[in-house]
Amino acid sequence: MTRLRAATARQANDESMKNDEARRVRFRHSGFVILPSFVIRASSFLLPAIFPTVLQAEDNVSILGSRPKWSVLEKYQETITRDEFAHLVQNVYCTRGLAPDLIEINEKAARILMNREAQKFFTLRFAENDASRKPVPRLWRPAECLPRARPEKPLSGLRIALDPGHLGGKWAKMEERWFQVGNSSPVTEGDLTLHVARLLAPRLRKLGARVFFIRNSNEPITAKRPDDFKERARKILIRNGVPQPRADVLDPNDPEKEQTIRWQSEILFYRYSEIRRRAALVNFKLHPDLVLCLHFNAEGWGDPNNPVLLDTNHLHLLVNGSYLQDELEFDDERFEMIRRLLSRAYDEELPLADVVAAAMAKEMQLPPYQYPTTLTTTKVGTSGYVYARNLLATRIYRCPVVYCEPYVMNSNDVFARIQAGDYEGKRNVNGVERKSIFREYADSVADGLAEYYSKTRKTLE
Ligand SMILES: [Zn+2]
Repeated sequence: MTRLRAATARQANDESMKNDEARRVRFRHSGFVILPSFVIRASSFLLPAIFPTVLQAEDNVSILGSRPKWSVLEKYQETITRDEFAHLVQNVYCTRGLAPDLIEINEKAARILMNREAQKFFTLRFAENDASRKPVPRLWRPAECLPRARPEKPLSGLRIALDPGHLGGKWAKMEERWFQVGNSSPVTEGDLTLHVARLLAPRLRKLGARVFFIRNSNEPITAKRPDDFKERARKILIRNGVPQPRADVLDPNDPEKEQTIRWQSEILFYRYSEIRRRAALVNFKLHPDLVLCLHFNAEGWGDPNNPVLLDTNHLHLLVNGSYLQDELEFDDERFEMIRRLLSRAYDEELPLADVVAAAMAKEMQLPPYQYPTTLTTTKVGTSGYVYARNLLATRIYRCPVVYCEPYVMNSNDVFARIQAGDYEGKRNVNGVERKSIFREYADSVADGLAEYYSKTRKTLE
């Protein structure tokens, strides 16, 4: 989940953020209007494009993104039919509409904008029909392409990377993934997700999987630190109408903290730099068949030292899709979307997310989360729990990604269960006999994966 930071960060499309829409409205009422798309508007100048030359127009690249290599898409020529391409554009990836010149779907090919200033386009040729479709090049394997498995090892040979969300530990306050009720133990999402990952790994290995940790400590993967981003943060603020940004945040409740160099450089560190580093590990080293992003959700808790606890509790899962029009304007995001579409990650991650969601819902007894607005997400699949959304992690990990968001950490019930800690068997917590919240999470994800792969891959008799 994402909290206060997401008002700016939604921008950002990047981390999951339940309450950002609601918060945006609240900010508007308080006259705080420039921030929601703050960094989005800021990012185009991250490249040194002061004097664009006539010969080469600069790419419009998102925060810490890299210039798209459109030639990579050549290998996808004639690997998709027009109908399938149009379906994925309209119903999965561009459900929020798109500017008419971005993707033009013609009879035999799609014309995709590479660079508006230079008016350069990529031509993607369609396969004439399913029979003449060329195979889709990809490094990950869908369930139906895995070798036969023994019934008791439905995940045998499957490469799964676990991505415990956030950092935890000493970074939890900076990440705004920290709250404390009185003298109880602080609740830090990054530590909770890592604990779940460590319980989940042996369960998946027992089912036959090869399991990798994208993070297995509460230290970042990126070698950068907030101070490395000070100059960039200052430029972002100036570009967004804060001519003389303050260096530091006064206190956690500083209403203008998002306009400080400190706050912006921290988010560049722990979100953008960190997630892009994790993606490099996934894409160039681990080559998994699947990434599981593990999170705990929350509702706005206000003052972290005196948080609001409530009775709301829910579950949802995310897959990549539902790009905002602003996001599609970035050349790198548009490129990454098309590459993802062509890899058909969606064909694997959606049915998988549906089965995992059903297993989690059954075990956790949680209702589906309903986003307060439909601005950023599109409900997909059949379980009622899965949404498409363009998060940085779901976009740039180049394989199927299932992003789990169970439990409202600042609900009375979940808070009590987190305080009870991890334990074996069942215990009475908050008046109910049940497993530890960590084991309930890990068991249900493992059950969902076992069910999906059991029914989808061929088995050895
Ligand atoms: Zn989270």
